Amino acid sequence: MHDLVIRGGTIVDGTGRAPMTGDVAIDGERIAAVGGKAGPGRREIAADGLVVTPGFVDIHTHYDGQVSWDPYLTPSSWHGVTTAIMGNCGVGFAPVRRGAERFLIQIMDGVEDIPGSALAEGIDFQWESFGEYLDVLSAQRRVLDVGAQVPHCAVRAYVMGERCHDDAATPDEIAEMARVVRDGLRAGALGFSTSRTILHRERNGPLVPGTHCSPEELLALGGALGDVGHGVFEMVSDLQGREPDRSWMVEFARKTGRPLIFALAQNERDPNGFRTALADLGALNRQGLAIKAMAPGRPVGLLHGLQSSVHPFLTHASFQSLRERPLAEQVRELRKPELRAALLREEPGTDNRVLRMFLTNWSQYFRLGDPPDYEPRKSESAAAIARANAKSPAEVTLDWMLERGGRQLVYMPFAHYGGYDFEILREMLEHPSTVLSLSDGGARRPGVRREHADLHAHALGARSLSRPEARARARRADADLRHREALRPARSGRARATDEGGPERDRPRAAAPARAGDGVRPPV
Ligand SMILES: [Zn+2]
Repeated sequence: MHDLVIRGGTIVDGTGRAPMTGDVAIDGERIAAVGGKAGPGRREIAADGLVVTPGFVDIHTHYDGQVSWDPYLTPSSWHGVTTAIMGNCGVGFAPVRRGAERFLIQIMDGVEDIPGSALAEGIDFQWESFGEYLDVLSAQRRVLDVGAQVPHCAVRAYVMGERCHDDAATPDEIAEMARVVRDGLRAGALGFSTSRTILHRERNGPLVPGTHCSPEELLALGGALGDVGHGVFEMVSDLQGREPDRSWMVEFARKTGRPLIFALAQNERDPNGFRTALADLGALNRQGLAIKAMAPGRPVGLLHGLQSSVHPFLTHASFQSLRERPLAEQVRELRKPELRAALLREEPGTDNRVLRMFLTNWSQYFRLGDPPDYEPRKSESAAAIARANAKSPAEVTLDWMLERGGRQLVYMPFAHYGGYDFEILREMLEHPSTVLSLSDGGARRPGVRREHADLHAHALGARSLSRPEARARARRADADLRHREALRPARSGRARATDEGGPERDRPRAAAPARAGDGVRPPV
């Protein structure tokens, strides 16, 4: 008699083998049988029509704050994630000096759209060093395992103080930062992370610390991974592996032998750039260099709406008096013909090029719907519907936003969706030089970017599929590639993940963490 039998599911065992129908039997804490027909269990779960897999290791999350107060780490735990890796994109909460906590909170708020007020209230900063941070996390119980990377922003702020933003670090400061990274890795960090994208700003503020730092600094801090002999270098960058990043990335990989991963995006500016990047990575991998790209399971994007932190009318002059009003009042006002007409005449009140793109990207605006459709057709975009109905795309979008009492969300993928389907993602995920990543799980603003953190749900085909061809494609893809990619066993490391307070060393681990267009909350 087994303790537990999960019966009749479609088993994807993570070895790369084809999916099979059968039972999974568990005795105590051990999996006793996978596949075939298991004997009776004290407890049985019918899994007909469901997929049974090992837990997912989500290598790119931002739970650094939430982890300290939420033992469930939702929504990732809802999606079958059993290990979440934090500290990506250079942002996190350790090391930190007394009195500087607020600064790190502002960075996370700006970069990842995680409310600073929630972070300030939720985090009890009982640490200074990275090792102390891990000790605090280890002492807490939670439903899944977590691992963390040493974030560049925190290290710069810790060592350089007020000068951490744009100032070049002195040789002494670089040496001190490298020591801090080494200490973090020795204490159990899984890697080191940094941000080199113009999309990552503090709220209303400058680019995050270290964005334009020198290759010397990156090589010195990355060198800590080589010194210690474990860990991954994780990066989000606008350059997608091109020069001037490429030279130091290659030098890093050659010198340290450690893996480096960066976020891969496809966008309108350079629709085929990701193919060039992948071809280049393939060549580097054949030379034995462990540089890989992170590809998402779903396009990276934003959810616009009246309850979101961004929508197309947010900077319009006529909207300013409504900004702080309750939702019901906003909806009532926005239905008045005069205000509506004024709003539709105006332009965004910002000169910020990136923000303007986010606020007027009509050909990539889609009514999200309920259940959501994350793979809408080109003909369903605000631009296309406007053309067909002799309206302006702004008017189409405003009408969407007012549906459901102002709660309708407008989906705007801003990367990976140039083809108006998921074929680009398939191409990325099928490439041997990529890892599935970029869920970006973390404590988001309610109603905003709800799509984040569920790349695994998507990989499992759990999303709603309204289009027959999409369903057919998903059946194909979900049944084979994406499971295997997601579950590809990872390199092991000495690094620790926490598991209800104890070290965990023998499960498959993330090959590396990273992500694309990450945290792209426009600096409103
Ligand atoms: Zn990220």
